[in-house]
Amino acid sequence: MTAGALTELVATVLAAAAVGAPAAAERPPVKWDAIPYGTARRSDMRAYARRHYGIDSYRLAQPKVIVQHMTEGSSYSSAWGIFAPNVRDGELGELPGVCSHFIIDPGGRIHQLVPLSLMCRHTVGLNYTSIGIEHVGFSEAGVMASTRMRQASLRLTNWLRCRYDISLSNVIGHNENLRSPYHRERVGRLRTQTHSDWPTAKMRPYRAALRKLTC
Ligand SMILES: [Zn+2]
Repeated sequence: MTAGALTELVATVLAAAAVGAPAAAERPPVKWDAIPYGTARRSDMRAYARRHYGIDSYRLAQPKVIVQHMTEGSSYSSAWGIFAPNVRDGELGELPGVCSHFIIDPGGRIHQLVPLSLMCRHTVGLNYTSIGIEHVGFSEAGVMASTRMRQASLRLTNWLRCRYDISLSNVIGHNENLRSPYHRERVGRLRTQTHSDWPTAKMRPYRAALRKLTC
């Protein structure tokens, strides 16, 4: 084969591959605002995963669920400030400190606090296999009414969903954690533990909007 024919063949193959490949969902702009996640926090996360899930690791391997949250606060900086220190939480008194992979601020900016390769403590029963997304504010209706917050949330969730091949039904609100097929908890007193943020009534329209986005 001549060099010219080879070049032509390569071009043809590349063009065919481009046509056949599905258009990947675009990654929205994400600002990296890491919280400290050093040796002590990793070791606490590993101990937590052992205690609650029987998993001897702090790593988030192939996440299967995306959990939506409300910060119940009015500013991004106060939410970041709650997640940053590795201290026992006031509710359950456990280590590591609570955290979330992402926070969407009132202006619709997406901040990433923790790499997707690490577990975060945001939802009892699902921390071993889920990505957490916090929305600054008190009301889910407020998020959906804000074009910037809603679009940022849907774009981020869609990109993650496509990237990890997570089904629509596994994009849930914190309040839906107990009904997740992935819910797992070895500590008896926490088996029914949930929060009130993003109940099914609020997640239904969210999932309906998400369904319209393609990968
Ligand atoms: Zn929550």
